[in-house]
Amino acid sequence: MLYSTSYLANRYNRNRAGNQKNMSEKIIKRKVVILGSGPAGLTAAIYASRAQLEPVVIDGPQPGGQLTITTDVENYPGFADGIMGPALMEEFRKQAERFGTEFLNIWIDRVELGSRPFKLYGKSSEDAEEITTIIEAETLIISTGASAKWLGVPGEEPMPLGLGGNGVSACATCDGFFFRGKPVVIVGGGDTAMEEALILTRFASKVTLAHRRDEFRASKIMQDRVLNHEKIEVLWNTELRAIHGTKEAGVESVTFYNNEKNEESNFETGGVFIAIGHKPNTDLFKGVLHMDEVGYLITEGKTMKTNVEGVYACGDAQDSYYRQAITAAGTGCMAAIDAERFLVEMDADVEENVASNW
Ligand code: NAP
Repeated sequence: MLYSTSYLANRYNRNRAGNQKNMSEKIIKRKVVILGSGPAGLTAAIYASRAQLEPVVIDGPQPGGQLTITTDVENYPGFADGIMGPALMEEFRKQAERFGTEFLNIWIDRVELGSRPFKLYGKSSEDAEEITTIIEAETLIISTGASAKWLGVPGEEPMPLGLGGNGVSACATCDGFFFRGKPVVIVGGGDTAMEEALILTRFASKVTLAHRRDEFRASKIMQDRVLNHEKIEVLWNTELRAIHGTKEAGVESVTFYNNEKNEESNFETGGVFIAIGHKPNTDLFKGVLHMDEVGYLITEGKTMKTNVEGVYACGDAQDSYYRQAITAAGTGCMAAIDAERFLVEMDADVEENVASNW
């Protein structure tokens, strides 16, 4: 086959460009790499940097984690008057930076955990094609968090696009207090929805639980508590279609759709809680790290150790039960201490081997 010279020249240039890109991949080597920058990851960073392990934190798509999309945080100890979620995370970050933590804003495309150093392959964004950074890590702390599942209806988006964080929430423990004396709507039919509905009864004037089917999937005991609670009304076969309100007033009403009667209706409410489950952000580790059926990483006993030596998991990626900023921070601290001890033991082994070879 014959090729024109311009075709060959173009192909040569493309190959050259491709080779040059590969050669320009940045390689970063670290003793401690922390994946995710919510309360767990940043606490791990504070501890690891104070231990002079010079950690690098990979920010992920939502630097600061879920707290950056909430407003007041009133249950984080140490802030008697409360603090805004983004401001709290800014303090965490500054504290980590103060001790020398470095931050990288890249998307990790894949990881190799088969041998140490572990390798993490990073791109400039999720959609980018080329790997631009390879990180070699002696230890890896996974703090990728979990994401609340959302319905995807109009009005649900985080501020400023919608009313998310301004009357729409996915955490009754965190935000229930702001709905004192107001009627609220909650969506879901599992144990989380039951639990959240019961928490909300402590604050709200009335809790309306909307479920898309005519039976719950929650445990019987939780169902009984909800169905027998005088403040909770259940709307069966009901889907939430839209959330309405204003920036100033927050949530004012919702549109419900009764899928049995094929009817839409407007329903006044002061807040909306979405409780249709959480998804841990652990897809990157499928098939390599042990996880439960939902995807929460499994750690060993009272430690943050995963099934791969030198890899630790903390925060909401590992905890399906407590899911609080303070508990995430606690497990982040534990993961950093586990990583530090592992590195000390490794160094001791190396020194012993060197000594015995003399
Ligand atoms: P889940 O059991 O998966 O329940 C999710 C609920 O949300 C289901 O009722 C589902 O409806 C509904 N849902 C899902 N997508 C929806 C959509 N697009 N529109 C409307 N509704 C939707 O999740 P979970 O309640 O978070 O529980 C997760 C696990 O944690 C479970 O194993 C649970 O037992 C456990 N958990 C335990 C406790 C406890 O023991 N105290 C507390 C919380 C959670 P359908 O039923 O129609 O599918």
